[in-house]
Amino acid sequence: MVWLFISDLHLSPERPDITRQFEDFLAAWRGQASHLYVLGDLFDVWLGDDVAGAFGAQVAAALRRQRDAGAQVGLLHGNRDFLLGPRFAEACGATLLTDPCIREIHGRRVLLSHGDLFCTDDHGYQRMRRVFHQPLVQRGFLALPHRLRQRIGARLRRRSQQDVAGKAPEIMDVNAQAVSDALRRHDVNCLLHGHTHRPAVHQFDLDGRPATRIVLGDWYTQGSALVWDEHGFDLRQLPRPAAARSGSETADPAG
Ligand code: MN
Repeated sequence: MVWLFISDLHLSPERPDITRQFEDFLAAWRGQASHLYVLGDLFDVWLGDDVAGAFGAQVAAALRRQRDAGAQVGLLHGNRDFLLGPRFAEACGATLLTDPCIREIHGRRVLLSHGDLFCTDDHGYQRMRRVFHQPLVQRGFLALPHRLRQRIGARLRRRSQQDVAGKAPEIMDVNAQAVSDALRRHDVNCLLHGHTHRPAVHQFDLDGRPATRIVLGDWYTQGSALVWDEHGFDLRQLPRPAAARSGSETADPAG
């Protein structure tokens, strides 16, 4: 069994190089992976399954090929694509997961999350997150005409970019206490998440026992994947294909 984890691809029609890398990555693993989990922000923005268009269908088809080759596909919401719904999941042959959730991976129970939940020092963001996760707010937004959804989405992204520019980097990282609390609450010693765009494997002490926090990287300037087989886990950086390197590279630490 080979588990593959990716997150923060931020796919959009404006960055065909990332989409190509994503499709190449899936093709390379087709038939070899038993599980493919996307831990949020597969898309840079998601305004509703009903307006996914050709680009949404292209991405769904890539994931479905993985499923058809024998992989279980799981999708977690990110803060950019929290409106991904059952219709898109069905098109992918994927399961929508709750954040956080636990999977047993080669004998180790692992807490899986997008990661924004643990950025508790960013009070403004957490307030906004609570509003956007209200079912009524989401239903109301999804009932709006497509053009209006686009305008609101663009305005929110601009505001978030301004917010991020004015915040200290440590405020946008996870809070150690929030991580420890979650590990205790779920009785696990390993957390795997994305969102912060700070790929790393952190080993630390939790109540006298070793604990691990694995952070997936984003795909803006390279690619990042965690491969977990019977020998253990391996956090890999994926080089951008040479032919695609000339594309505009707008790093966005916002998550
Ligand atoms: Mn994110």
